[in-house]
Amino acid sequence: MQTLFEKSVAGKRGVTVAPPEVETYSFDESLLRTELDLPELAEVDTVRHYTALSKRAFGVDDGFYPLGSCTMKYNPKLNEEIAALPGFAQAHPLTRADKVQGSLAVIDTLNAYLAGITGMDAVTLQPCAGAHGEYTGLLVIDRYHKSRGDFKRTKVLVPDSAHGTNPASAAMAGFEVVSVKSDGDKGVDIEELKKAVGEDTAALMLTNPTTLGLFEKNILEIADIVHAAGGLMYYDGANLNAVMGVVRPGDMGFDVVHLNLHKTFSTPHGGGGPGSGPVGVKRALKPFLPTPAVVSTEKGLRYEKGKQSIGKVSAFYGNFGVYVKALAYIVTLGGKGLRASAETAVLNANYLRARINEFYPVGEQRYCMHEFVLSMKKLKDETGVTALDVAKALIDRGIHPPTMYFPLIVEEALMFEPTETESKENLDRAADALREIIQEAYTAPEKLHTSPHNAPVRRPDEVAAARNPVLRA
Ligand SMILES: *Cc1c(COP(=O)(O)O)cnc(C)c1O
Repeated sequence: MQTLFEKSVAGKRGVTVAPPEVETYSFDESLLRTELDLPELAEVDTVRHYTALSKRAFGVDDGFYPLGSCTMKYNPKLNEEIAALPGFAQAHPLTRADKVQGSLAVIDTLNAYLAGITGMDAVTLQPCAGAHGEYTGLLVIDRYHKSRGDFKRTKVLVPDSAHGTNPASAAMAGFEVVSVKSDGDKGVDIEELKKAVGEDTAALMLTNPTTLGLFEKNILEIADIVHAAGGLMYYDGANLNAVMGVVRPGDMGFDVVHLNLHKTFSTPHGGGGPGSGPVGVKRALKPFLPTPAVVSTEKGLRYEKGKQSIGKVSAFYGNFGVYVKALAYIVTLGGKGLRASAETAVLNANYLRARINEFYPVGEQRYCMHEFVLSMKKLKDETGVTALDVAKALIDRGIHPPTMYFPLIVEEALMFEPTETESKENLDRAADALREIIQEAYTAPEKLHTSPHNAPVRRPDEVAAARNPVLRA
């Protein structure tokens, strides 16, 4: 497909701007742009270009999208409609607090609900992504230790089953990262933890469910060990979709948690759109949360600057539209609905896993949470067909590939997260597609090495794309 620049015809225009009716102002010549290389197209050409592009894309409204650790679920359109109401969508962030009481009530109410859902005492909505929430939470932890005159705590412990953003955020926040190995049961190895923890431990970051889709078994014991050493417990709750309404990080001994509203709470993940990674904390850490906070006063809701706050972590108050959708989601589902949605997410993952186990070994028989990891190593050893080939072959069958080659601790990994929004029929279709591909691997592997055959893009050179990105025409 041609780019807009290739389709450009000199002199074509989409709109003609009327001459200004007001007096014009001349800028200093040195400030004026002399050249602007924009494609020249009629409106209709531009509309058709983007419509054609949109038809080549695959989204959650097109079909099954089991991208692990991403919670690519279908979200009720109602929530989008509510977020698009002009009073919300057009509120300017610099409007005086007394003129946007409704929007501040959204922030205040959502804070309270998220605190309730996570078992925390206070929440900030400012961070704009999960990793941004991790970074914020770690700055809060750092500030907490230092406020008590404790300057030795320079290390953050991160189990090897953590999400990749955890060590990255800890390093960004200025900590030294100490990796803690998993034990035979795929949980944190308690003996390794005891060796790693000490007076220099600022926190331990636990991803739960882990990137293997398993519930960490020894959380209470881990929390006791870390707390006894004076460290804090950080919960990566990006995948709260598996446990919301069932268990709360605050009840499990965690001091800080972040959530991904753009996974669990009705904003689609991916595509680089707006995200939100709220951070919840226990009372002792509240003073350090980003500023300003929305607080209830006699005159109504107002912004409050905290004296001990770590400061701002985003312009204004974060991505407001995402909050509206999250609040609409929580209110329409209610407590029981949230719990049912988590339970269905877990049931769906276990169902798909059990269906796949009928024709390909899924590994140990422990129940998974909202996602599971398949190793395609056996298939590769026996047929030469790799996890990548399988993922590409799924595209030909109308299914978005699962996450590939992650987590790194599993060879030839495919990570499936079906989510609660898929029906049994869809899960059956996905299992059947995988069965077909695996059979084909034993009979006609060549075709799989060159899949996808029916997609607009075949196999991009991923190495070249990563090493030598061309980001503009
Ligand atoms: C997605 C995810 C993150 C990171 O969230 P972003 O919004 O992509 O920064 C962190 N931890 C876990 C477990 C995740 O699944």
